[in-house]
Amino acid sequence: MPTRRKFISQTALAAGMLPFVAKSLSIKKAANFPVVISTWDAGIRANLKAWELLSNGKTALDATEQGVLITESEMNCCVGLNGNPDREGIVTLDASIMNHLGDCGSVAALERIEHPISVARAVMEKSPHVMLVGEGAQQFALANGFSLKPQQLSSDAEKSYKNWLKTSEYKPIINIENQGHKTNPPNKLENGQFNHDTIAMLALDSFENVSGSCTTSGMGFKYRGRVGDSPIIGSGLFVDNEVGAAAATGHGEEVIRIAGSHLVVELMRQGKSPEAACRAAIERAIKLRGDKLKDKQIAFIAVNKNGEASGYALRKGFTFAVYSHLQKNELINAKYFYE
Ligand code: ASP
Repeated sequence: MPTRRKFISQTALAAGMLPFVAKSLSIKKAANFPVVISTWDAGIRANLKAWELLSNGKTALDATEQGVLITESEMNCCVGLNGNPDREGIVTLDASIMNHLGDCGSVAALERIEHPISVARAVMEKSPHVMLVGEGAQQFALANGFSLKPQQLSSDAEKSYKNWLKTSEYKPIINIENQGHKTNPPNKLENGQFNHDTIAMLALDSFENVSGSCTTSGMGFKYRGRVGDSPIIGSGLFVDNEVGAAAATGHGEEVIRIAGSHLVVELMRQGKSPEAACRAAIERAIKLRGDKLKDKQIAFIAVNKNGEASGYALRKGFTFAVYSHLQKNELINAKYFYE
């Protein structure tokens, strides 16, 4: 029996309305989703996993969690337990996750757990809170089935830490992340220079929902107890399903001062493209801090609801990776403000 819908579409065809039908289909196709974007060269490997999930109809939340799990476990990477320790020689991890409904969870200064991003997700889904820190975060992780790893530095981190101990100077070096990931397996700097390293990932799924994740071992040789921007919702990561999502990397203190990721999302809400919004947020930091940003790097990535994904950095050297039907896991050198 012909349904009403079938009848209308057959009538439309008969009335020569095919071009209209075809046009509305192509508008849908032109929107670029699913899409995933993530920070730095390591994003290429993380995107592979995220894309596998997204292209199989999984949610952006699952894709952005599973994608960064890859990086958290990479042996020669500075994210996760293989990252550089704090000045006491202990690795402490920060992570956050946020979905299209405004649900979010984060952990800070978490020790001896391999996947802080999954603990952040458990905080979001299984606790009444948004953020757990330190010992409490670890207790929560253990109570939710995560296991305790040995308190032990990777051989690269141990080498870096020993070198750092020679001067014990806190002197972050711009774009160390990039150098760290250029080779495969990526080399850490051997001279004990500071290291800051993060993977942030944003995705728009086939349901046209946005989610994001951010995970880091933070700034190498940081003060004990230091928390960066990555686990702070609105600084290291922000998602608003009406507009899109943004995430940050670089010197967390500078990102926190401008509530960076929230700012980028609000700038997109005002009509800016992801790249223009990221650039405007960088300009805001420059206006606020001027010379105090000397020798520092910050960078943002963003995605909007049309599936446009891009980034922008304070300085040269930031890369991000985009995977979509249009850009098949492309590593892009971000535009920047200063050489
Ligand atoms: N934003 C991170 C932090 O300040 C570090 C990084 O992006 O590499 O902890």
